[in-house]
Amino acid sequence: MSFSTDLLRWYDRCARALPWRGERDPYRVWLSEIMLQQTQAETVKGYYARFLAAFPDVAALARADEQSVLKLWEGLGYYSRARNLHTAAMIVAADMGGAFPTTAEGLRRLPGIGPYAANAIASIAYGEPVPALDGNQARVLSRVLAWEDVIRTPFDLLSPALELMDRDRPGDYNQALMDLGAGICTPRAPGCGSCPVAGHCRAFGDDAAQDYPHKPAPAIKKQQDWTILLMLVDGRLLVRRRPKGLLGGLYEFVAVDGRFDNPASLADALKGRGFEDVRLIRPLPASKHVFTHLVWQMRGWLAQCGNVPEEYTVVDPPHLKALPFPSALRAYRKIAEDLDEACKF
Ligand code: SF4
Repeated sequence: MSFSTDLLRWYDRCARALPWRGERDPYRVWLSEIMLQQTQAETVKGYYARFLAAFPDVAALARADEQSVLKLWEGLGYYSRARNLHTAAMIVAADMGGAFPTTAEGLRRLPGIGPYAANAIASIAYGEPVPALDGNQARVLSRVLAWEDVIRTPFDLLSPALELMDRDRPGDYNQALMDLGAGICTPRAPGCGSCPVAGHCRAFGDDAAQDYPHKPAPAIKKQQDWTILLMLVDGRLLVRRRPKGLLGGLYEFVAVDGRFDNPASLADALKGRGFEDVRLIRPLPASKHVFTHLVWQMRGWLAQCGNVPEEYTVVDPPHLKALPFPSALRAYRKIAEDLDEACKF
């Protein structure tokens, strides 16, 4: 029996029951694949259902405003996925008559669809025999093949992956490898004893599953210091939409780059940024957020000022819930939402 036959037999018996399983509609397959990037399937389930309830098809998503899309994405992270999803929907609706490209190559031309997502969507929705090579699939294949080279990108394994894959059921084959990587051939403690492809696995035969994949040395994450201010003007909070780039389009509080151990120097920095009559009321707890390549170390202050600088708007603390904020600011948003009765003090 071949590798793919054993894998698919197991998949037919043990596939995870997920809301997008069995789905061939390219819009739904696309949505699930984009949400699943960097995110656990369990987390995606609720977001997927709410997103589809709000935007049941590509035309509905194309008509939506970006803020509504980001609001439904709130907490899922990697917000460029949501912005790209929205832009791609507008392109499909306006330039492609509402129909998605039907090949991986065509799908890759849409914003936010890289080689992995293109292959996943094309194999699942259209049956194109292309491997959905992500970190999970690369890990499984590196063990099955006892791949000795350092893997810099999962597509380093494209050639053997194409050889191994099932040509009759490419979508199921890719999803079977996703399930195997998520549930059995896990990074730290692979369950080789219950693995359906153990008989094909060279790493298992060598009792060396943990030795694969061979990864490049991890990059050191850049550290950034921020001072976050819950800045009040007449009992209302200053917020603004972040410009393009990291977390672009999401809301934030007043944020000054750098760490200020001395309140006087923080007040000076705020003055230089157009805030008048600043009064620092009390420090807030520190918070940290780890991105893929970056760590934010945040210190906070509750403060008030006498003006609303350009770019900012004011909002009542109870209304913060309606605005999309990044998870990175969750701790400060929670404090802001709990500020007493529109911040009387
Ligand atoms: Fe992974 Fe072990 Fe299965 Fe090999 S036998 S694919 S290492 S779980």
